[in-house]
Amino acid sequence: MAKEDLKSMSLEELQGFMANIGEAKFRAKQVFEWIHKKQADSFSDMTNLSKNLREKLEKEAKLSYARILEKRVSKQDGTTKYLFALENDNIIESVLMRYGYGNAVCISTQVGCRMGCTFCASTLDGVERNLTAGEMLSQIYEIQKDTGERVSSVVLMGSGEPLDNYDNVIKFIKLLNDKDGLNIGQRHITLSTCGLIEKMYKLADECLQITLAVSLHAPNDEIRNKIMPVSKKNDMDRLLEACKYYSDTTKRRITFEYAMISGVNDSLDCAKELSERLRNMLCHINLIPVNDVKERNYKKSSGETVERFAEFLNSKGIETTVRRKLGSDINAACGQLRKGYLEKRQ
Ligand code: SAH
Repeated sequence: MAKEDLKSMSLEELQGFMANIGEAKFRAKQVFEWIHKKQADSFSDMTNLSKNLREKLEKEAKLSYARILEKRVSKQDGTTKYLFALENDNIIESVLMRYGYGNAVCISTQVGCRMGCTFCASTLDGVERNLTAGEMLSQIYEIQKDTGERVSSVVLMGSGEPLDNYDNVIKFIKLLNDKDGLNIGQRHITLSTCGLIEKMYKLADECLQITLAVSLHAPNDEIRNKIMPVSKKNDMDRLLEACKYYSDTTKRRITFEYAMISGVNDSLDCAKELSERLRNMLCHINLIPVNDVKERNYKKSSGETVERFAEFLNSKGIETTVRRKLGSDINAACGQLRKGYLEKRQ
């Protein structure tokens, strides 16, 4: 039988596991704290358990992991990109960003991605598999151990579509938020989606206090269909209804992400149409000059175009900011470092 991954279990699940192997319930709490509070890498580290139990765990169970393979530190701003190896030699990447208010980590939720956005490097080779909750946590635990600094916020904006790996992502959020784990507040967790409508309703009904970011990138279906294939089944009218439901249910403001691509979605007409469609929405827009991906010939909008776009939206009362570009010297855009590594490995 396959070994069970204790790092992906809630405390209740861990209690069930201990009962199954004939151990006392309180052992579950001890193991949970070793995994999530002390971030132990192996059962042999869990020194307040008997040798007997440690050996039993070794035999019956495993701890999912992410091992640091490579690391690049930006000379500009200290942003650090990590390349991790997982079980089966799968490769993922995460980014540590340093802000005035603390350290934020951007994690991957899948190996690759199957959403097919035409400007994104993560999706060029499709998806290989979903990450477990334990593998998502491991990215944060390892970065914290590597830097010796606390991680205070987490964004699910690395490779993969979080809502395409729904159950594991929800488990991950609950473990990350657990008082016996890192205890990161839900308001310090942001989940970014390309807009899988049904799953957005499901997420709203979980009544979490996380921030939902929606990758919009266009003011209408015509442009959106060209750059985001997922939009064909998830059209903008229905998408915006789902956003409204999310903010009505959770009382949380939605963030719309909008990658500015020269000549594609950055005209003032686009800004105008966008402002009309988002009227009355509890939201905030984040403009991101698109990062170059060498496999695509998109160009980022000029600084001036981005500023004008932002100014227009702000003048219509829609709060708009331009994302500060971190780590552009270390391939910090989605999926770029992993792609380069895989090409070298071949
Ligand atoms: N699948 C999720 C989360 C991962 S992508 C989503 O689509 O939201 C995180 C964000 O980076 C998304 O807004 C995505 O559209 C954006 N992104 C991907 N490639 C980019 C690029 N080359 N330049 C700028 N933003 C990019």
